Amino acid sequence: MSINERVINFGAGPAQLPLLVLAQIREDVTHYGTSGMGIFEINHRSKQFAAICEECEAQIRSLMQISNDYAVIFTTGGATQQFSMVPLNLLEKNGSADYILTDHWSEQALAEAQKVGTTRVAGSSKDFGYTTIPGSFSFDEKASYCHFTSNNTIFGTRFAREPDCKAALVCDASSDLMSHPIDIDKYGVIYAGAQKNLGVAGVCLVIIRKDLVERAPNSLPVLMQYRTYINSKSLYNTPPVFAIYALNLMVKWIAQKGGLAAAEASNLQKAKLLYQYLDQSNLFSGIANYSCRSLMNVTFRVKLNQAHELEKRFLQEAAQAGMVGLQGHRLLGGLRASLYNAISLGDVAKLITFMGDFEQRALA
Ligand code: PMP
Repeated sequence: MSINERVINFGAGPAQLPLLVLAQIREDVTHYGTSGMGIFEINHRSKQFAAICEECEAQIRSLMQISNDYAVIFTTGGATQQFSMVPLNLLEKNGSADYILTDHWSEQALAEAQKVGTTRVAGSSKDFGYTTIPGSFSFDEKASYCHFTSNNTIFGTRFAREPDCKAALVCDASSDLMSHPIDIDKYGVIYAGAQKNLGVAGVCLVIIRKDLVERAPNSLPVLMQYRTYINSKSLYNTPPVFAIYALNLMVKWIAQKGGLAAAEASNLQKAKLLYQYLDQSNLFSGIANYSCRSLMNVTFRVKLNQAHELEKRFLQEAAQAGMVGLQGHRLLGGLRASLYNAISLGDVAKLITFMGDFEQRALA
């Protein structure tokens, strides 16, 4: 297949990868370096893979300015496994954990914590259909930790800044980690499945303050303890070799493009262009509250009576024009364009041109 036959994938994840990264993968599938074999075949305890892990961790530390107070580990089980690992490791015996509900995913995180111990809801936008971020919170200062979701993939909202709580901040950043710079010192734990901004499914990147790890009872199953990953450098058992390799290529690509400040500038520009179009459109309207619009997942719908039919036609015609993944999540409906790191400004411009053309035809 030639590059010209590729579609633009605006899906929420697994997401589009940069062509440079795909080209490197294509080469490495049969011949990885001087190993004489392909990347799928190398041993997880080989010097080649040790070099990949080392480089990957060093790049992540450098890009995100992570100090030695934090461990950088690679887990499996996606972000969903972190919904369980966080309370199992961090929820103290007679303690309680705060959760901020802003989406289906934070509800899922809370549900797992409820299986482990006492929880509180410190803020929720459920009554607003999750189209906004709560305006106020009631934090438990003594909480073992406070969990929030920095970017809400389904409803298309984001926290413009971290919630101001005293407890250790735990963040599900699955859909916006490394899309912009953050001050890591504000966090106790931050985690993200790689398949949106950081590569392919199979690995979850977890950054955790080392002192928090010691809370975990030794009785936890070995792969559910953060300690296991830290002490073994994420090599207690066979890790997802290919996904870590792809993560390494992705962070290298982000660094080569200018790092997280450059990623943020590009992501702002892309989202702004699409929101500007939506705000003047007579056919489409954005769903999320203006002040907390996500830069990663732009949710919108047709605002006319025949919305459903028109949205269906929109998806069909967009696919014919080479743009896919624009269907909204089943919990919200409507349409969604995910603008992760590997989506270019040109990709967004092409979508907007198509939307404008569709709008003219629909309203004619
Ligand atoms: N949290 C958020 C914010 C997500 O967007 C997703 C997946 N789309 C998840 C958690 C679940 O991630 P995983 O499938 O990697 O377990």
